[in-house]
Amino acid sequence: MGAHDALPVMPAHANGQLYDGGRWRPARGGSRAVIEPATGATIGQVGIADAQEMTDAIARAHAAQPAWAATAPRDRAAVLLKAAQALEARFDELSLAVARETGGIVPKGQHEVREAIVLCRIAAGLPMQAQGQVLPSTPGRLSIARRVPHGLVGVISPFNFPLILGLRTVAPALALGNAVVLKPDPRTPYSGGVLMAEVFEQAGLPAGLLQVLPGDGEAGEALVTDPRVPMIAFTGSPGVGRRIGELAGRHLKKVSLELGGANNLVVLDDADLDAAASAVAFGAWFHQGQICMASNRVLVQRPVLEALKQRLVAKATHLPVGDGASGQVALGPMIDAKQLGRFDQLVKDTVEAGARLEAGGQHEGLCYRPTVLSGVKPGMRAFDEEPFGPLVNLVAFDSDDEAVALANNSQGGLAAAVIGRDVARAMAIGERLNAGMVHINDQTVNDECTNPFGGPGLGGNGSAVGGPADIDEYTRWQWLTVQAGVRAFPF
Ligand code: NAP
Repeated sequence: MGAHDALPVMPAHANGQLYDGGRWRPARGGSRAVIEPATGATIGQVGIADAQEMTDAIARAHAAQPAWAATAPRDRAAVLLKAAQALEARFDELSLAVARETGGIVPKGQHEVREAIVLCRIAAGLPMQAQGQVLPSTPGRLSIARRVPHGLVGVISPFNFPLILGLRTVAPALALGNAVVLKPDPRTPYSGGVLMAEVFEQAGLPAGLLQVLPGDGEAGEALVTDPRVPMIAFTGSPGVGRRIGELAGRHLKKVSLELGGANNLVVLDDADLDAAASAVAFGAWFHQGQICMASNRVLVQRPVLEALKQRLVAKATHLPVGDGASGQVALGPMIDAKQLGRFDQLVKDTVEAGARLEAGGQHEGLCYRPTVLSGVKPGMRAFDEEPFGPLVNLVAFDSDDEAVALANNSQGGLAAAVIGRDVARAMAIGERLNAGMVHINDQTVNDECTNPFGGPGLGGNGSAVGGPADIDEYTRWQWLTVQAGVRAFPF
């Protein structure tokens, strides 16, 4: 138990409330305790929106958006820059709050706040870029292809990196002239929503443009089905993503699905094994493996398998696990008992199917020991499913072709990586992997906010967010022609 235990994370003005784009108001859907995973302490109450509240919020955002889209680009940019400053001014306080609410270590909280600042700064540049092209056309006709905002963007975000995974849409969507209705995961409502409302209010975002409504599936579906919301940006599991995609399809909406799947990390026989072991440990165990890009399959060439395994087992045995905010541990708790129970069963089922438990496999409260399984093969749960827990799955291979075949034995994923001293060989393998993001001599957990982020299959619907993808993502094309007078027609 640390000194922070008694302190709430949720500020009094937001406790049990919803944010309607200018005012905090009680939630008709009631409220629920927000639990700090490491201590079990109640750190606030989250207001739960019902479907009607979601519909009302959409109406407010919808009404506020046209004036915002008509605001000078430099004034929209200024709001985003002020949001970055507001985050920077509260860096230490916010980093600790994010770490505590998400069960992360303090550097994880710092990472989220640091990246959030970058996201706001990058978004501030978007309104100042060219918004289209002048097209060749008939003489006397000005023909322009221009990007215009969608209007309203609905955002549904998960619990693991709630600040950056929400803000990576909220910031560019607002910057490009949209209003946003955000439904964060109710387990992490401060990092995923309240914090953003505070910062944008301080930055002078006009009323109504950002609505924050934590809620359950009912509120989420009201957001996804409302005809005034032409785009949904969803980040979460492939299962819920399918449902969101179906609903969006039925209601003829643009949908960005940022999901999960298999992330393969290939270790070749010429790799520096100390460096590789460190990369694997980080890729698989950082934030308890609760990362969409976690290195959830580690494919190792047979001659170096035993040596790499020994290094990983030593790390698994020694790494401290506990309250992430204490500053004394490498791994914190999992988000809740449901997530831990599912992961624990996956480990047990994989051992039952013939894999060997080399380290870990135990937990104290929500703190699961870093775990190593060897002999993992296709057909075992830990190979076939996304573990979303602190697990190194060691899968043996002999040839480069076999590594590629094993890696591509999946329904797709976000990230892949190859570690080996022969960079040309590692690149040749990397180019054959079915992933949205490929890294040579690295592990799979990478995001710089300047890169397009996404992946095929279970990774999502091929849409990407971030960097050069953002203008495409949060605006649509409009063809505009202008002539001095109406031209002559044949009838
Ligand atoms: P999840 O269960 O799919 O939840 C994600 C969000 O969807 C939550 O806010 C959840 O809140 C909401 N939700 C659930 N059912 C809904 C419905 N019927 N309608 C509307 N919203 C609904 O995902 P998770 O288990 O929290 O997160 C882990 C998964 O997310 C992993 O698969 C991971 O790979 C993926 N992920 C992907 C990325 C990426 O960038 N591609 C990043 C992080 C995580 P409620 O359940 O409270 O409604």
